[in-house]
Amino acid sequence: MTQINHQFRLAARPVGMPKRTDWKYVEEPVRQPGDNEVLVKTLYLSLDPAMRGWMNEGKSYIAPVEIDAVMRAGGVGKVIASRHPDFKEGDEVYGTLGVQEFATVQGKTLTKVDSGLAPLPVYLGTLGMPGMTAYFGLLEVGKPQPGQTVVVSGAAGAVGSVVGQIARIKGCRVVGIAGGEQKCDYIVNQLGFDAAIDYKSQDVKKALREHCPNGIDVYFDNVGGDILDAALTRLARNARIVICGAISQYNATSAVKGPSNYMSLLVNRASMTGMVVFDYADRYADAMREMAGWLAAGKLKTREDIVTGIETFPETLLKLFKGENLGKLVLKVA
Ligand code: NAP
Repeated sequence: MTQINHQFRLAARPVGMPKRTDWKYVEEPVRQPGDNEVLVKTLYLSLDPAMRGWMNEGKSYIAPVEIDAVMRAGGVGKVIASRHPDFKEGDEVYGTLGVQEFATVQGKTLTKVDSGLAPLPVYLGTLGMPGMTAYFGLLEVGKPQPGQTVVVSGAAGAVGSVVGQIARIKGCRVVGIAGGEQKCDYIVNQLGFDAAIDYKSQDVKKALREHCPNGIDVYFDNVGGDILDAALTRLARNARIVICGAISQYNATSAVKGPSNYMSLLVNRASMTGMVVFDYADRYADAMREMAGWLAAGKLKTREDIVTGIETFPETLLKLFKGENLGKLVLKVA
């Protein structure tokens, strides 16, 4: 019997927030693997803010998804057929599987994972790409020193929640900026941040003055826009700003809002550096080992926000832009 593969393909380049009509939900027969290929049944998909950027035309750090192509997504799944020597039926793997139920991919693009060590969705969050982003962005670009003040925005999300916890492990004072009381309560009372600022109900500039009396040594920016501008007003001398993302601008229909307070970099001899996680790919294994150790020791907590049903993909993706996820947003395929 022919197996059927349901997929989301990009139908149109969105203007502003993506709409249902920007997608095509299609079905086609599952393609059996050729030489060196592996057929994977997708179990969980990673939903990432970056997906919004991949839907746009134009040059970025990675090629855009073509119109009619299966939407790009990282995922974990189970091998159901293999013609690659390193993989056999039943292996659990991570790869760029796409928003589809089955993926036929080159074996060399897959990495084995082990649900005996951590539940599979964790390999999409804390032990996956967002966790690696937090680890390398903070430690290699932010270079926090014990006793310094680290501020992170998007603090209750996949990257931000890990940034704050690693900064605590490294002996820093950590202030998180997040939207709403529940998220602020979570990062302080569950994750051990020193303070939280609710940007939806508080004056961020004023709150930063209160919580960072000696200024900000490292600002890890996930959101850009007004919050980046507010952080710039509070820098300590030699501060490092890590430009990880700017989610507040991803659906903008007019020009991206840039920082106006950038002269603070000059006054404070500070730096602002962009980072792309893929540049550290050859060191992921070492970082994962260290992070897994922190998880096992209870020093690092992980949280996944799991929604079930591949057919909900267009609406579930929007949770990221509406701030409806707490922790790593994951789509359970069935
Ligand atoms: P996430 O934080 O788990 O989810 C996105 C969160 O962004 C939402 O929950 C929401 O939280 C916040 N948000 C949405 N709209 C906002 C707005 N207008 N203003 C302020 N906050 C807003 O997502 P993630 O996967 O961890 O990604 C976080 C950032 O890292 C993104 O900018 C992403 O593009 C970036 N990233 C970069 C790399 C890299 O290599 N450079 C790799 C991975 C991710 P609130 O409820 O708190 O608003």
